[in-house]
Amino acid sequence: MKNYHIAVIPGDGIGPEIVREARKVLDQVAKVYHHTFTYEELLMGGASIDVHGVPLTDETIAAAKKADAVLMGSIGGDTTTSPWYQLPADRRPEAGLLKIRKALNLFANLRPAYLYTELRKACPLRDEVIGDGFDILIMRELTGGLYFGDRSTRQVDGKWVAEDTLTYSEDEIRRIAVRGFEVARKRRRKVTSVDKANVLDSSRLWRKIVEEVASDYPDVTLEHMLVDNCAMQLVRDPGQFDVVLTENMFGDILSDEASMITGSIGMLSSASLNETRFGLYEPSHGSAPDIAGKNLANPIATILSAAMMLRYSLDLDQEADAVEKAVKQVLQDGYRTRDIFSEGCEKVGTDRMGTLIAQRIQ
Ligand code: NAD
Repeated sequence: MKNYHIAVIPGDGIGPEIVREARKVLDQVAKVYHHTFTYEELLMGGASIDVHGVPLTDETIAAAKKADAVLMGSIGGDTTTSPWYQLPADRRPEAGLLKIRKALNLFANLRPAYLYTELRKACPLRDEVIGDGFDILIMRELTGGLYFGDRSTRQVDGKWVAEDTLTYSEDEIRRIAVRGFEVARKRRRKVTSVDKANVLDSSRLWRKIVEEVASDYPDVTLEHMLVDNCAMQLVRDPGQFDVVLTENMFGDILSDEASMITGSIGMLSSASLNETRFGLYEPSHGSAPDIAGKNLANPIATILSAAMMLRYSLDLDQEADAVEKAVKQVLQDGYRTRDIFSEGCEKVGTDRMGTLIAQRIQ
């Protein structure tokens, strides 16, 4: 019997509803496998702005650091109507997200794009393209590159000029590449490293360092692919990919594309890890203000994020397998939230879906 301390950030919109269901599932895991999970709720995003005037306080960061892992819902509101978006950019909800990633040094972002057989009809690709389905893991560098480089907007000779800089050091590349190869070893042992080495210096360094790291993993196949080709290949033949290893901006775009081809944003989990076992786990989708508080949100992405937490931060592989199996079972049994509903299935709300999954962990 072990005791784990989990920081929980429900966040905004549907965040509190979906996190509640993930906790329901974790509590069932605790009961069946004889663990104790203690939770500490923390404020971030709009919920923190309302109380503290800022999207993330230093106290919240300190509390998160003390936990074994952080489980998050989602943050942010309606970007056209919410007063949070009248604030300066560095005080808006999303600023909290960038700040916590940097503060916790969460440099590795893992986003699986998996096609459930039961949800095949939701996939926008043609049947012959889907083939036997796909199971992709996007490994995205999260704290470097264009999103964290120096930027400026200034006037030159009376005309506005805006500049963003894309910088990567060899250490930043090496640590994410090692993560990519390590994860590939637990999967189908293939890494596709995605860059733009025909144009960018940062990509040429990326490719060189990835090759150096690959020499320590002779059992893993490495291929390089240009980002524009990768964007095409994802919709032409997604089954060819196992781990897609890439830098921050390319990963941002490709992971959204990969999630789209699964046809169900409400199903996609994510993990953000640092050098240790610590990580922050959250669904890939946003706070869906359009359906908040209506018991319509699909909690599965958050529940699968909790499964990733069990696997990567708490080292509880068997328990993570049990959660993933329970999700598959519920789909096989024909239960669907509204976003993944199809004819012949039974439509259920957020809370019922959580209960049904928890009940299947025995
Ligand atoms: P979104 O992902 O919140 O919603 C897009 C669409 O998908 C909506 O129609 C929504 O109803 C639906 N949807 C999303 N999750 C769902 C779920 N679990 N079940 C059923 N349907 C679901 O994206 P958006 O509308 O562009 O953004 C809304 C807010 O979320 C914004 O403030 C944005 O900044 C924020 N956001 C936060 C994160 C995060 O917390 N990491 C990520 C993306 C967006």
